Amino acid sequence: MKIMKFGGTSVGKPERMHQVKDLITRDSQKKIVVLSALSGTTNALVGIGDALAEANKELAKERIDALHKHYLTFYKELLKTDGARTKAEKIIKEHFEFLNIILKISFNEAINRDILAQGELLSTKLFYTLLQELDVPAVFLPALDFMSIDENNEPELHKISEKIKVILSNYPDDRIFITQGYICKNHRNEVDNLKRGGSDYSASLIGAAISAEVVEIWTDIDGMHNNDPRVVDKTRPIAQLSFDEAAELAYFGAKILHPASIWPAQQYNIPVKLLNTMEPDAAGTTITAKEQGAGVKALAAKDGITAIKIKSSRMLLAYGFLRKVFEVFEKYKTSIDMITTSEVAVSLTIDDLSHIKEIVKELEVYGTVEVDNNQTIISIVGNMIAESKGSVAQIMNCLQDYPLRMVSYGGSRHNVSLLLDAKYKNDALRSLNNGLFEWN
Ligand code: ASP
Ligand code: MG
Repeated sequence: MKIMKFGGTSVGKPERMHQVKDLITRDSQKKIVVLSALSGTTNALVGIGDALAEANKELAKERIDALHKHYLTFYKELLKTDGARTKAEKIIKEHFEFLNIILKISFNEAINRDILAQGELLSTKLFYTLLQELDVPAVFLPALDFMSIDENNEPELHKISEKIKVILSNYPDDRIFITQGYICKNHRNEVDNLKRGGSDYSASLIGAAISAEVVEIWTDIDGMHNNDPRVVDKTRPIAQLSFDEAAELAYFGAKILHPASIWPAQQYNIPVKLLNTMEPDAAGTTITAKEQGAGVKALAAKDGITAIKIKSSRMLLAYGFLRKVFEVFEKYKTSIDMITTSEVAVSLTIDDLSHIKEIVKELEVYGTVEVDNNQTIISIVGNMIAESKGSVAQIMNCLQDYPLRMVSYGGSRHNVSLLLDAKYKNDALRSLNNGLFEWN
């Protein structure tokens, strides 16, 4: 079996939904089709929740009505027969009645998560109705029947696997299954989600749960690119990446793939393919365990980084200093991205500033603390960068004009990370793009 996941833009227009139908019926392989909400819907639902959180029911109502209108136009373009349209009207009515009822009851976080789930429920139901209209045999598989997270919001892969296998065993002869990305049940059995962009994660978890042959992530770009196309003129898709390289790029800014979606595939050794719905025969990017090629393959940049330096003469010749420093971050559940040390100081970076005040206060016990905001991590990813002669020199050559705040090299053979002020990011990415890749 394979997994085919389609993102918001791939289902965001009626004609795109028809294309998805074409893509899932191109071969007769068994498949689970995972859909996101129509593009813009989850943002709109977040907006409705925000308005309700501020007790602004008027604004919430306005936003619900605007979204409702969008769906009322959408289904008429999507479906042609009276039967299918009647079904769609019922689906839309049910979900918007739900949103309107919420306006009347008191708002809380659990209800907010219910609101956020409406997007994927609507997209999958409308798509399923389209398949019915076109006589494409398919099974509707509600994600809330098998996707679950534990009390730490971690997916319960074993449970998911057991449940989905039982469900699938009821349909030995069916070939196409439609389910929702993003949504799940939590340990209180409430509707919850896998965080923004989490449909990729759903796809990879389901792939791992059923030991799928491949997880295909269909978007509107032909794979992961070697650099950020919004910043540099020329980029190209990368044909092959290892799980480690892909994880590094996804985490450090490549928007095409949710970073968490790598580990389930990696753990169960399931290839992930990034494919383009607009160009279905393009090779895209294949991510497998295989480490291939040598040298730099791609760059990614992550903004909104804060660097913290702790300087202390007590660090000199002392042991246990780093543990104490790290414990402060652990206490505030703040993860660290980059670390560099000297004998008298350690610098590290974080992107979550929720507890920065407390963290700085506690770190001051161990030394002088300096904080630099508005930093960017540029992560240079490839295979055996460390073993490739001259690759670091080449990287540094491209960056002669920019002050580097931190350099992290040797943490893995796949990556060199640099920290610089965000104002140098675009120029640095361009310079690296020209210097590290062959363009003809
Ligand atoms: N619809 C959700 C979001 O916009 C999940 C996803 O599309 O991956 O974040
Ligand atoms: Mg996405």
